[in-house]
Amino acid sequence: MRNPQPLMTWTFRLRAIGRQALDIVFPEPAARCMLCQRRIPPGFLEALRRDAPRARRHAGRAMKGHPCNVLPLCLSCLQDTPPLAGIRRRIPTSSGHALQVVAAAANEGMVRRAIRQWKYDGAVEITPWLASLAAGAVRAAWPRARIPWLVPVPTSVHKLRRRGFHPVGLLARDLASHLGAGSVAALAIRPADPAQSQVTRAAEQRRAASARDLYVPLPAADRLRGQPVLLVDDVVTTGSTLRACADALLRTGVSMVAAVVVASEQ
Ligand SMILES: [Zn+2]
Repeated sequence: MRNPQPLMTWTFRLRAIGRQALDIVFPEPAARCMLCQRRIPPGFLEALRRDAPRARRHAGRAMKGHPCNVLPLCLSCLQDTPPLAGIRRRIPTSSGHALQVVAAAANEGMVRRAIRQWKYDGAVEITPWLASLAAGAVRAAWPRARIPWLVPVPTSVHKLRRRGFHPVGLLARDLASHLGAGSVAALAIRPADPAQSQVTRAAEQRRAASARDLYVPLPAADRLRGQPVLLVDDVVTTGSTLRACADALLRTGVSMVAAVVVASEQ
């Protein structure tokens, strides 16, 4: 609990290095779309990168904030980008403070698939694009704000072991460099009490209801005292996770909390 979790486990790093080595030894004959695995016609990506105005005519609105500079995507996935207009939500916290949340896009189409691949298939190469979407949403929502600290919503030890990496931790790190802020792992998920491993369903539900106690501040939260903090997560659905994290941070004495996510479910 004392030490912040690593962003990637060693086994995950080694697997990634192995994959890169394989790509060098046995290069794929044709690029495939990262999201749908369709073959990308030779020269398509190069043409998009070289000739943005023409590509914009082909892909229409999808080219606004499009990821083709960083990701191998086919035309149909590019056209499936939801409008990146930015979504703003307000979530009441238990302290009476309304948590302002900004999302870069709706959680649908290509954004939804990209987040799933990133999180569940370990496609960490998608992180910079997701961070740039989130950075755009922050700048549009608070153009003049100076944000000193970002805090990623923590992952559980169990999920870190299973996935091999902490997607939101990587996202916060990349987003911090866009915004000139620092990223601090100031929260952790309290491990389940071993004495309660045989909990009944009712007790489990009670525990879920008191989610505010699930997120606990780490010693690193001390240096955020008196300062505004931006929470970072990938997707907001009901807002209960963000609310619980904001409450935990406000109890440690941060001056104000807002949140940014890549996508909003709504
Ligand atoms: Zn595709």
